[in-house]
Amino acid sequence: MKNLQIKHHLTDSVMLAYSAGSLPEAYSLVVACHVSLCAQCRSALEGFDALGGAVLEQSGKSELSAGALAATMDLIANGQEPAQEVSYEKSDFPVPLQKYVGGGPEKVKWRKIGGGVKQAILPTANDANVRLLYIPAGTAVPDHSHGGLEMTLILQGAFSDEIDRFARGDVEFGDEDLTHTPIAEVGIDCICLAATDAPLKFSGLIPRLLQPFIKI
Ligand SMILES: [Zn+2]
Repeated sequence: MKNLQIKHHLTDSVMLAYSAGSLPEAYSLVVACHVSLCAQCRSALEGFDALGGAVLEQSGKSELSAGALAATMDLIANGQEPAQEVSYEKSDFPVPLQKYVGGGPEKVKWRKIGGGVKQAILPTANDANVRLLYIPAGTAVPDHSHGGLEMTLILQGAFSDEIDRFARGDVEFGDEDLTHTPIAEVGIDCICLAATDAPLKFSGLIPRLLQPFIKI
């Protein structure tokens, strides 16, 4: 398979927290999914695990190994060289996510949130939440800011915002200082996985008009 050109990775502090088991479930899911797609962060995380002597229980590591083994067996059966990485079809979800959804994108129970954008909030512990977002190609997600830390992993397609371009495998971090308008690229609908520790605040016209008065 063609390796993903991942440009935006996890931070050391996030990997440390994940390795120590102190990251809320919602963020841990995003980390596990990124790590399953990214050899660089996977090896960095192994370093953190060795450092902390922590045991990886919740990560996608063992699942990945199982998946990699199955993929290797398939390739051997087909008389091909085993690939270095687990191959995912465009429509597939990383294994850790499949466990939450019960399969791939076709299993997601989407709810429309306006402008053609759909979301599905996944069941996790209450200290943070994680949702799948479906953004039709060429569509903008309404302006929003974040009450806390938002961690977004792109699973399909790509979007660009005021910060940069983010494609499959990339992670974007946002906080209360970031108000951004991600626009999905033309060509393929964008699907991403976003964890937050507070609800996203969408800043529509009326809230924006009121804001100067509220902030006095
Ligand atoms: Zn990475």
